[in-house]
Amino acid sequence: MSNRSGIHSELTFQMIVESAPNAIVLVNNDGKIAYANNQTEKLFGYGRSELIGQTVEVLIPPRYHERHPGFRQMFFHAPSVRAMGAGRELFALRKDRTEFPIEIGLNPLVTTGGTLILASIIDITERKKADERFRLVVNSAPNAMVLVNQIGKISLVNNEAKKLFGYEENEMIGNTLEMLIPARYRTAHVDFRNSFLSRPQTRPMGIGRELFALRKDQKEIPVEIGLNPIETADGIMVLASVIDITERKKQEEAIKRQVELEIKNRELEDFVYIASHDLQEPLRTMSNFAQALEEDYAATLDDNARKYVDAIGKAATRMHSLVRALLDFSLLGRNKKLVHTDCRKLVEETIADMADTVNSAGAVITVVDLPSLYVYETELRRLFQNLISNAIKFRKKEVPCHIVIDSQTTDDKCRMSVSDNGIGIDPKHFDRIFQIFQRLHSRDLYEGYGIGLPNCKKIVGLHGGEMWVESAAGAGSTFYFTIPNLQQ
Ligand code: ADP
Repeated sequence: MSNRSGIHSELTFQMIVESAPNAIVLVNNDGKIAYANNQTEKLFGYGRSELIGQTVEVLIPPRYHERHPGFRQMFFHAPSVRAMGAGRELFALRKDRTEFPIEIGLNPLVTTGGTLILASIIDITERKKADERFRLVVNSAPNAMVLVNQIGKISLVNNEAKKLFGYEENEMIGNTLEMLIPARYRTAHVDFRNSFLSRPQTRPMGIGRELFALRKDQKEIPVEIGLNPIETADGIMVLASVIDITERKKQEEAIKRQVELEIKNRELEDFVYIASHDLQEPLRTMSNFAQALEEDYAATLDDNARKYVDAIGKAATRMHSLVRALLDFSLLGRNKKLVHTDCRKLVEETIADMADTVNSAGAVITVVDLPSLYVYETELRRLFQNLISNAIKFRKKEVPCHIVIDSQTTDDKCRMSVSDNGIGIDPKHFDRIFQIFQRLHSRDLYEGYGIGLPNCKKIVGLHGGEMWVESAAGAGSTFYFTIPNLQQ
């Protein structure tokens, strides 16, 4: 009976071993091969009879021969079911002396004839190739990528990730992902990580939240992160692709500031309109009374009184021209119509109107090239007048003032420029000078109210164009503006 059941169990064992998809080798405690299945023959290229009775090292590359018997004996002393060579890469040797990467599971089998070891061997060449391909894809990705296992340990990073985080690969691999996250988010992140694993799906991380990464130098950077679950031989992993959005954030900030500035400017313009409008009346009264004093009481006023009245009259006239300029500024662009205009002619007429100023400064103005465009004529005339009078006002005393007016026209717009060889502007003031009432010099040095350039910018804006300046202190200035090249 027992004999029969022995045969039965042997047959069953053999059948199982032969039908297993892995190569299975039984090794006795001398390290000799006691049995090898059909898959072993296929994988290693030996006939079974060539293997049985040989030491198992015949299946191992020679460079491991010295150490392997030691490992083998240690296992016989404390046999347990486990994977062999944890953390090391294992290789096997075929009969034709070629090597291939393997994974081995070890099982002790206690039999009446003593303990045998059942080694189950898997050829992982294909998996390694797939891993390599995956690695290549990840490495050639334009974003930083970090592959993380189920317990949050980093198992792969690409070159971009090294650049982004400032760590070497070996400093990241094996560490927990939280090393790349600012301390204040770490605890919550472990929970996020676990909940992602319970329902893994490709999605952006932290929707609605601002995300920050921590670099090795402890600097935080704003990031956007995409999460992709990946099935691997080691279970599910998460591939995180990380984009540094510092630049984008800066641009968004700049736009926000620009919008805030525009709102502030608009409020200021509304105020300017109301104030200048309401100032006109008392100003007119002052002027009229000053004039009346001068005309009707000339005989009764002594010299001093006449001087005072004269000063009041002059101040009132100056203030009147300022109030007029402010009103013009706030009314700019109301009820206007675009007219097809020869800009060269317009500029030449403007220069002719300014002949006194131009001649007394000895300025030379060269008009190179200007097209015909649809423009708000009066406004454009005012714009050129402002730019030319600034170029003359801010000239260098030691060299003759030279102004060049030029343009470049494409299908969609014309970029005009007014260049001078004057005192120039420090680039840190480029934004400021286009804001109302902003001036860089005291009024004793250069007259003015700081309305000219905001006026110009507003006129350009009315046309749907943009305006900017290029300059450096002492190096002359070029004011540029664009006007859309409309075909009507
Ligand atoms: P204003 O000329 O009345 O001072 P603007 O608004 O026209 O006012 O100009 C603002 C400031 O920009 C000027 O006070 C001056 O400091 C600077 N600026 C404008 N044009 C020039 C220029 N061509 N060269 C040097 N500085 C200039």
